[in-house]
Amino acid sequence: MALDQLESKSHVSLSDPLPQFVPGSVCVQCDVCCRFPESDSFLRPYFTRDEIGAAVEQGLSPALFMDPAGSQIALVKDAESEGYLCPAFDPVTSRCGIYDHRPLDCQLYPLALMWSADGSQVEVGWDTKCPFMREAVPGEIHRHAERIHALLQRETTLRLLANNPRLIGRFQEDVIVLASLPELTDRLRLHQPDPRLRPLRLEDAPRMKQALERSECPGHEALAAYAFVYHYIWATTLSYWWMERDGVFFLFAHSPDGWFMPLPPLGPRPLGESVEEGLADLHRWNHGSPVSRIENVTDQQKARLAGSHLQWSDKSPDYLYRADSLAQLAGDSYKSQRALCNRVERTASVTLRPYAVADQPACRDLFRRWASQKREGTLDVMGRYLLEDAEAAHELIWAFGNRLGLVGTVACAQDQVMGYTFGYRLTPETFAVLVEVADRSVPGLAQYLFRETCRAARHGGAEYINAMDDAGLPGLRAAKQAYHPVATIKSWIASPLQP
Ligand code: SF4
Repeated sequence: MALDQLESKSHVSLSDPLPQFVPGSVCVQCDVCCRFPESDSFLRPYFTRDEIGAAVEQGLSPALFMDPAGSQIALVKDAESEGYLCPAFDPVTSRCGIYDHRPLDCQLYPLALMWSADGSQVEVGWDTKCPFMREAVPGEIHRHAERIHALLQRETTLRLLANNPRLIGRFQEDVIVLASLPELTDRLRLHQPDPRLRPLRLEDAPRMKQALERSECPGHEALAAYAFVYHYIWATTLSYWWMERDGVFFLFAHSPDGWFMPLPPLGPRPLGESVEEGLADLHRWNHGSPVSRIENVTDQQKARLAGSHLQWSDKSPDYLYRADSLAQLAGDSYKSQRALCNRVERTASVTLRPYAVADQPACRDLFRRWASQKREGTLDVMGRYLLEDAEAAHELIWAFGNRLGLVGTVACAQDQVMGYTFGYRLTPETFAVLVEVADRSVPGLAQYLFRETCRAARHGGAEYINAMDDAGLPGLRAAKQAYHPVATIKSWIASPLQP
């Protein structure tokens, strides 16, 4: 069993399936597994982000998962009974349609992970609802449980479970406890140093949106970071958490270095007070490490925090453009971009259309092609690092762009996807371009796609285009400057004054 393919980030998956305890011949005759009495049964299998990706690749609809970062699957009505079925289950053959890709939750069964009755410990037990567990030899059950127990203590498994705490079910009386899992219990506490913290899920988008609206986000000068999707797509790299205290929304992120706040606290209380509170949390959780900081502080917020015991460093600013200018590319200052767009129009017969989920495999191929073209170019270490993280973020965008409120466009030539963009309405007057990928072997395609995206945003009523920051990459900075921003929006990082 090779469970040791350890990834360096919080994006973790098991490399091989767990050993199957119940013989397949018994499973196909049983009528318990994969069927549920209620549509919202708490026993529905939980899929991690990677498992959702694999299930979608196997043909399950992304709409079956409430949250692409990890969620229980939505059940479908069983035509033959009062109950509900896992949509991957084929009632005619009694087989799982994604058996080789079934989630860890299903692989573990009939063993189950759950919180102890008093909620103090994670336990592994065997579920007596499985008929085979009543027939199996207890010695064999224990030997199997010991093997699984050992696997559950591996670093990869611990990280996977800590990143997906909802894999630990609630206490069930009919599950016979085999062992407590103190390492896992500790790891879960480490991941959640305050019981009020909640993992950031897609279902939290409206709550965060409300908090952002209440905050004093200044019109078209809002930073692109003042949007749920901006953070959420990076949940493959960092783990995001939030809590609300006295009407103030605190967003936290946990990186391999420690905890930080990707945004200042959002809410009605005086900013200085809630910043102090947030930094005190970070100080405690990071054990005084200097990693504690608040990112994406605007100029106005910085002014309001004058006199606080903070030190400031600046982050790359966002680039803001007039949508009209980018839609027209008129005049001498846009001569080179206009020439490239004209070239594409003359030679490449590119057509544009809205992105559809069916474009996902073609977009993945394009992304990989584009990434290797970029690696062959002049990419510095930081650029390479960002590129590595980007594929997981793009996967999430392709699968769940619609539900994240993203507007996606694909550019096709000769029936092949050659480029795509995704963006979102940041404020009523500003459209933010979140990602753009264009095959670099087609000269001018990136410029053409960007102009067309800006035209569509302009057509949709946007007056400004926010093209995000330059991540400190000189090449990206030059490209963004070449479009003549109407403003660069300052972004600050606040950290406690070191003694
Ligand atoms: S994923 Fe497969 S094994 Fe798991 S509940 Fe669905 S049909 Fe059953």
